[in-house]
Amino acid sequence: AQIRFYASPAQEAVAKFKGQKGPDGKYTVTLIEGDGIGPEIAQSIKDIFEAAKAPVKWESVDVTPILKDGKTAIPDDAIASVRRNYVALKGPLATPVGKGHVSLNLTLRRTFNLFANLRPCKSIAGYKTPYDNVDTVLIRENTEGEYSGIEHVVVDGVVQSIKLITKEASERVLRFAFQYAQSINKKKVRVVHKATIMKMSDGLFLNTARDIAKEFPDIEFDAELLDNSCLKIVTDPTPYNDKVLVMPNLYGDILSDMCAGLIGGLGLTPSGNIGDECSIFEAVHGSAPDIAGQGLANPTALLLSSIMMLQHMGLHDHAARIQKATFDTLAEGKSLTGDLGGKAKTHEYAGAIIKRL
Ligand code: NAD
Repeated sequence: AQIRFYASPAQEAVAKFKGQKGPDGKYTVTLIEGDGIGPEIAQSIKDIFEAAKAPVKWESVDVTPILKDGKTAIPDDAIASVRRNYVALKGPLATPVGKGHVSLNLTLRRTFNLFANLRPCKSIAGYKTPYDNVDTVLIRENTEGEYSGIEHVVVDGVVQSIKLITKEASERVLRFAFQYAQSINKKKVRVVHKATIMKMSDGLFLNTARDIAKEFPDIEFDAELLDNSCLKIVTDPTPYNDKVLVMPNLYGDILSDMCAGLIGGLGLTPSGNIGDECSIFEAVHGSAPDIAGQGLANPTALLLSSIMMLQHMGLHDHAARIQKATFDTLAEGKSLTGDLGGKAKTHEYAGAIIKRL
């Protein structure tokens, strides 16, 4: 069965993509290869797309930060490319730890107002995990919460980080969660929160959810405390299969990695950063510096992200074809990469998928 990672976008979005189709019948898509294993896994995607005759022309951009007004920033060319093309596929970007470095991932999300981080989490046949029936979706608010970057020293030895929640950003991501649930035929939306402790901030998120739920009478709505969700989902993920979970930024960051663990790890989990203006699809994992340059990386997460991207662009036939070849290759289990217990190099695994196209 095909996974519908992403439903057809709204009519106006489809029109946007149609407008981007070149005389050669191809859509230009921005490609940010990223750091570490990024270029290796991006190469697999390029090879697989070419073999599948996906009508996509890659526009590779460099996002090595530049200095702008004394601050690090993403080069203007890269920003213009994403704006022009409406969609981008992005490899992992390394974030240096500590003072003075902005996270490029955060900067991209803020620059394009990518307000929803969409992470489908579905078990993959053939890959043995504690559970083989996970099929849930997490949607994380992607622009504020604890990740607003408002931090300061109060006095020596005391720092303060501000958690910012606005009604506007909450409404946007919550409405997206309900619309997404409708589009993939899930009947329930659940808000995950800690409004018992964060009474005002999570309280605002939860109350906004109650209001938005009224706009979607065909979808059942409920709420659950984050700690409770964590305990229950690792004990038995089945009750979460009919739901779309939506939550503030930090909770979504953590809970989605936990769910990635339920289906076999970061190497298999795709994501989409969705905005009104444009959307960026990326693997959940990072740049894996420990295995970079050795041909050991598993490109599946980026490949599944690129399938979400094709679905987002309305290219469902190509998405289905690549997805089937990928899942059949994984199910057969003969050409898996090291993280999945196999011996195949990145390009050998990609080659096995190409043979099945
Ligand atoms: P990581 O996800 O890069 O690696 C964690 C572990 O998983 C490593 O052992 C790695 O080898 C393995 N792994 C990850 N992806 C894999 C793949 N595709 N195939 C096989 N094994 C894989 O996390 P990290 O080491 O904490 O972070 C490294 C860098 O990546 C940091 O600079 C971090 O800030 C950055 N990062 C970026 C993103 C992003 O761009 N969205 C996300 C997470 C981390």
